[in-house]
Amino acid sequence: MASKRDYYEVLGVAKNATEEELKKAYRKLAIKYHPDKNPGDKEAEEKFKEAAEAYSVLSDAQKRSRYDQFGHAGVGGASGAGGFGGQGMSMEDIFSMFGDLFGSGGFGSFGGFSSGFSSGRGSARPVSKGSDLRVRIKLSLADISKGVDKTIALNKYVPCKECSGVGCKESKDKHTCQTCHGSGVVSSVQDTIFGRMQSSTTCRTCGGVGEVIENPCSHCGGSGIVRDKESIDIHIPAGVIGGMQISLSGKGNAAPRGGINGDLLVVVEELPDENLIRNGNDLIYNLLVSVPLAAKGGEVVVPTLDGKVKLRIEPGTQPGKVLRLRGKGISVYGSRYGKGDLLVHVNVHIPHSLSSEDKKLLDQLERSEHFIPSESDRKNIDNDYRRRMMD
Ligand SMILES: [Zn+2]
Ligand SMILES: [Zn+2]
Repeated sequence: MASKRDYYEVLGVAKNATEEELKKAYRKLAIKYHPDKNPGDKEAEEKFKEAAEAYSVLSDAQKRSRYDQFGHAGVGGASGAGGFGGQGMSMEDIFSMFGDLFGSGGFGSFGGFSSGFSSGRGSARPVSKGSDLRVRIKLSLADISKGVDKTIALNKYVPCKECSGVGCKESKDKHTCQTCHGSGVVSSVQDTIFGRMQSSTTCRTCGGVGEVIENPCSHCGGSGIVRDKESIDIHIPAGVIGGMQISLSGKGNAAPRGGINGDLLVVVEELPDENLIRNGNDLIYNLLVSVPLAAKGGEVVVPTLDGKVKLRIEPGTQPGKVLRLRGKGISVYGSRYGKGDLLVHVNVHIPHSLSSEDKKLLDQLERSEHFIPSESDRKNIDNDYRRRMMD
């Protein structure tokens, strides 16, 4: 699969483009490459979809910031990394999301897409589509780091067993709809700013199925579907990010009377860890040591996703020091070997209250020359600060 173009490049805007600039740029491209203006032109269609995808991400503040941080992987659009949504949008998605951008009344011929047909115009046999299901799945950082298989129980529409999803027991109980003559749609012609256009709406008599049932199945009432529990196995790849969406095609609700199943959209939710904070693929542990330990050095125990490890603290360790445990972070999404690091931030605990005994000891230390900060100590802090500002 070819690698994806940068979304800003697709829309031809700067990285800091405002919402209004994005909208304008997208609108321009959408009109230029609109399928109605470029009938049968595959390249225009691809450009049209590419622009819609870019706009769908950049117009959403949350997605945009994830995209800025992680690129295509952050918004589920990593090419070739299987399973995630966002890999090319269908025309139906585009029109249901951005219909308002095209102005009211325009592009009437696309009306048929929203009524759930697999291919809008001209198909004689309507195919109904089950609705998509969306579930959230909560994952610990340990699960995210390694990837995990989960089984979830879902309450969803499944085909009725009594009538095998047909809606009636015998085929003679079913006949072609008289209103739409089996097409499931009723057409009308409309004048729009783009000229005369044909628009199609779902037939009300049969609900778009194209058939009417005389003697419906008593178990499902003729719909062909009933609610039931189903358990579904889901594989979560390593390195996913909260908000990412895994789409399992065909695992959503069954369609009335034997259509195409909807999809199951699994939205990843990241559970906060008790000790570790995630920052991209790195993990951060805030270590807190006593003043004597920071001064004398010693051994501390640090939690990682694979259990605790011992860490040596050098004598004279300053607050703000960062110790890097390479490869102890989160696996990089879509990469087989890449892993982030665990960054141990050293903090020094200053007592909140003192006994008279403590106070006496500190009075003594205060006069010791090693406890009096020098100008070069202060300069070192400046230098560390400058270094951190550069990172
Ligand atoms: Zn009908
Ligand atoms: Zn039934």
